[in-house]
Amino acid sequence: MVCSHCGREVKPTRHSASSEGGYRVDYYALLTGDCEPITIKNPRDESVDLSFFQLKNPRWVISCADCLSRPEIQKQVEDLFSAVP
Ligand SMILES: [Zn+2]
Repeated sequence: MVCSHCGREVKPTRHSASSEGGYRVDYYALLTGDCEPITIKNPRDESVDLSFFQLKNPRWVISCADCLSRPEIQKQVEDLFSAVP
C-alpha cells in the first residue's frame, strides 16, 4: 500500500512491548467518495420512510505520517472527512 499524496510505501502499525508508547503508526486510511441522499420504505413498516446517504464511487485515501504532519495535507484530509454528512 502506498501514500495517496507522496506515493511512498507505508508500513503497518508496529507494536512493541519495550519502547515508550508501545506502538508506531505509519499511515492513516480514510474511506471517502461522493454521497447521494436516498430514501427507502422501512421493510418492517412501509408507512415509514428511511433516509440516509449512500456512498458512491468509494475510494481509500492513504496518508503517511510524514504527509499528515504537513498542514496542507491535514486540510485536504479534513475537507474530505467533513464532506461526508
Ligand atoms: Zn506521504
